[in-house]
Amino acid sequence: MPEWHQLGMACAPLCLLRLGRKFSSTEATRTSVVATLKSSSKSPHDLKKGHALIIKSGSRCDDFVVGNFVASCGVLGLMDYAQEVFEEMPEPNGFVWNTMIRGFQRNGRPLDALVFFRRMRYVGLQPDRFTLPFVVRSSGGLLESWCGKGFHGCVFKFGLEFDVFVQSSLVEMYVEFGDIGMARQVFNEMPERDSVAWTILIGGYVNRCCDMNAARRLFDQMPEKDIVVMNVMIGGYVKLGDVDAANEMFSKVATKDLLMCNTMMGGYVKNWDVGAAYRLFVEMTERDMVSWNTMIGGFIQTGRFKEATELFHRMQTENLRPNDVTIVGMLRACSQVGALDMGKWLHAYVDRNRYLVNVVVGTSLVDMYCKCGVLECAEQIFDQLHDKDVTAWNAMITGFAMHGKSVKALELFRQMQHERIQPNEVTFVGVLCACTHGGLVDEGKQYFHSMVSEFGLTPQLEHYGCMVDLLGRAGLLEEAYDFIKGMPLAPHTGVWGALLGACKIHGNIELAECAIKHLIELDKEDGGYCAILSNIYAKAGRWDDVAKVRALMKERGIEKKPGCSSIEVDGKVHEFGVGDKTHPRSEEIYTMLKEISRRLTMHGYVARTSEVFFDVEEEEKEHALCFHSEKLAIAFGLISTKKGVMLRIVKNLRVCDDCHAATKLISKIFERDLIIRDRSRFHHFRQGICSCGDYW
Ligand code: ZN
Ligand code: ZN
Repeated sequence: MPEWHQLGMACAPLCLLRLGRKFSSTEATRTSVVATLKSSSKSPHDLKKGHALIIKSGSRCDDFVVGNFVASCGVLGLMDYAQEVFEEMPEPNGFVWNTMIRGFQRNGRPLDALVFFRRMRYVGLQPDRFTLPFVVRSSGGLLESWCGKGFHGCVFKFGLEFDVFVQSSLVEMYVEFGDIGMARQVFNEMPERDSVAWTILIGGYVNRCCDMNAARRLFDQMPEKDIVVMNVMIGGYVKLGDVDAANEMFSKVATKDLLMCNTMMGGYVKNWDVGAAYRLFVEMTERDMVSWNTMIGGFIQTGRFKEATELFHRMQTENLRPNDVTIVGMLRACSQVGALDMGKWLHAYVDRNRYLVNVVVGTSLVDMYCKCGVLECAEQIFDQLHDKDVTAWNAMITGFAMHGKSVKALELFRQMQHERIQPNEVTFVGVLCACTHGGLVDEGKQYFHSMVSEFGLTPQLEHYGCMVDLLGRAGLLEEAYDFIKGMPLAPHTGVWGALLGACKIHGNIELAECAIKHLIELDKEDGGYCAILSNIYAKAGRWDDVAKVRALMKERGIEKKPGCSSIEVDGKVHEFGVGDKTHPRSEEIYTMLKEISRRLTMHGYVARTSEVFFDVEEEEKEHALCFHSEKLAIAFGLISTKKGVMLRIVKNLRVCDDCHAATKLISKIFERDLIIRDRSRFHHFRQGICSCGDYW
């Protein structure tokens, strides 16, 4: 709420200034001063020179000269400087007042614009068609509809109700207020309408009402459609997700500008049509940072890491300096696929080019190192970061939690409070996750309650999911179930999924059946849950029930989400699906798998066949387990890296019991450290032991 008494108070110094004498410079000097001002007002330094010239030439009270100076200040966003010079004038005329008001309005200072309007009225000056539009727009900017209506009255009072410029500003003001009805009324009453008025109203329907149909009807009536209104329409379609309509309009535009192409490219990406986006990207004659970032972002979003990296490198060969958005996007891509080499390269690049001063880039680096499994590097960068915000703290806390470093995560949480950074909901997901992975039930409960009582945060579904996970893993299954029943929100798949996971660990068939009932209702697509249930039955030897689940899945068309693992070798990311044979070195990989199997058996390893949920012969089950995607990735890692090199694998699903047990042994037999990041956490395998303590 603006301080309205300021409007009156600001008038005081004017009376004192009135006492000054008015000088007037010769016509020749003022023209030359204004010419110099206009030609040199490119920087604040130029402006200072201009100011000196005004003083030297004795033009301090010349309305024309000062008005031009004020306008230059407005362009450079230096309205305080403009005001300083303005206040030295004893009696500025309407032109100077208007320039001040316009300057404030355009520089996002609507309150100052209104203060100046009030002062202008106070000294007895009549507003004109160059005053009111900016006053009206200012009240729109302040979102004070009662004062806006007052200005609407002003328009009539000063006889400007038929001025196109003034009326357009009224339309804009009502659009800003979200009062599309009034905006439409003013628009309808306009005796003549320019394209600005049309565009403002259409923009109002698009951005304020999200009503593309109304916008389209108006657009079709608009006599001459320029590129600005086309951009509004295409942008609206893209924003509201109707990419086909946007595309249709886009294809009919003869001369497309950069903004339009960028918007359309963003639309294709939003529609997951990266092919169309890239075709447009290639066709574009002009590209800016937005174009490059949109395209790179599109590749990242669809998991095409290789293409994203290639484009990033191409950007540099074309001598374009990536900005923060590019860097952050690339780092996120590295996190997704666990591309540590590329991440490290980006880190060096960031260091070299001084991006690290930016806390957003720094946080992305912390996140990347956490997700690629190098906590030490993440910690180092985190410690170096200045002005850490809550997001930076969250990244490090979550990082520790995911790696099972519960004590460190909670320690950091305390330190964060000590430094008076207010935690948010995300912080508590990290904190509760730390408690879960550390089996800290009492602490978890305390933190959950403190969220509300101490920090005034409302627990969301994620937090309830964490709590169910925490209780369930600790074997408190009934308590977890009661907790779900007492939830004020409708539980989502994460909550029931957590209960199901706990049932699997503790072999509770009854609750598992209850959880699965809800899960199938909530998410018909994901067959992963059914797989877990059948595993629970299999463990209990209830093969009839396993078969029933199979039949149910078949009947409902549910499929288990295929597993997929990726591994980075020499800066290249290799992806493997279950039983994948598409890799160029496939033959060697399967030979290695046989060798792994042989050596595992030699060490007394027996496959944990309960993981294979369908009712098949034991031998076949063993065979199916062999080809889980992470095993393929491990085999490839072993044949393509030197002895002793750590293997880092990212898996889209949870690591199964068998792969977990096998990997532990592999780390011992082959003397390799392995890090597997699965859907929810990190497993660091070393010398036959996993960092998760078999608790995941
Ligand atoms: Zn597996
Ligand atoms: Zn583990």
